Amino acid sequence: MNSPDTRLFGAIEAGGTKFVCAVGDAVGQLRAEHRFATTEPRTTLAEAAAFLREGSGDFGPLAAIGVAAFGPIELDRRSAGYGCILRTPKPGWSGTNMLAPFAEQFSCPIGFDTDVNAAASAEHRWGAARGADPIVYVTVGTGIGGGVLVNGEPLHGLMHPEIGHIYPRRHAYDADFAGVCPFHGDCLEGLAGGPAIVARSGALLDELAHGHPQWDIEADYLAQLCAQLVLTVSPRRIVLGGGVMSQVRLLPMIRDRMRHWLRGYVDRPELSTRIDEYVVAPGLGSRSGVLGALSLAVQAAAPHSHAPGRLHPGT
Ligand code: ZN
Repeated sequence: MNSPDTRLFGAIEAGGTKFVCAVGDAVGQLRAEHRFATTEPRTTLAEAAAFLREGSGDFGPLAAIGVAAFGPIELDRRSAGYGCILRTPKPGWSGTNMLAPFAEQFSCPIGFDTDVNAAASAEHRWGAARGADPIVYVTVGTGIGGGVLVNGEPLHGLMHPEIGHIYPRRHAYDADFAGVCPFHGDCLEGLAGGPAIVARSGALLDELAHGHPQWDIEADYLAQLCAQLVLTVSPRRIVLGGGVMSQVRLLPMIRDRMRHWLRGYVDRPELSTRIDEYVVAPGLGSRSGVLGALSLAVQAAAPHSHAPGRLHPGT
């Protein structure tokens, strides 16, 4: 394509605590942005739709919209509940159709996926995972979630991957902590998410001295996740983001422990001499959420798109 792509897209990052909405283009540049607190569904989605309406009035029609939502969500287009939030502890949101308010007001295609699948898509399109496929994007914050991209498309199956809830082997310093996941207790999220760190150590990671055992425990559990991803998904890159990962000294600790767990079994330079380029920080930083939604929109507008999360009213 010789002429520049001038199409505009709507992006909705639907988070459990805040919404970030934007109008942007196919190269990831945002023209307008609006963020506000997540309250009850009807008001929140109406505000998001109103922003896009205003944005399309100011800048021109939208070629597609992308909605990146907190989960779990229904991604099976054959399901009557496609586009809905599934059972969630967030009051009032279980069963909410995240797409209907946009489909009613816009006739363009709407891409829909989990926030982490969307972030994986954005990191692949514009960020730290460019040129690599498959890739995994992991966020480590209040919860632990991961998006998997295969052949450029987010992986959907029975549902979507929930890699934050695997069971790691216990660290020697952590034999007695029960874990905090309401479903599993001592799954990865229950042992290594932000609330687990606070419950175990009484403080956030960045408040603990560098020699505190919590650093080793955290790095070890996240390294076990990375090692298991290598063994199950065989990604060509792993991007680790989220609030906990903003502690940059964790990354080299994770790489070291990951090599420990793999024991040289997967014999590739990416896991030895080039591991610094294999397990990486996000290229888009805290922008990966809203750019993830934008990436879903760009994908939904592609003429060859067969993304299972694509919705086109009337088709
Ligand atoms: Zn769990």
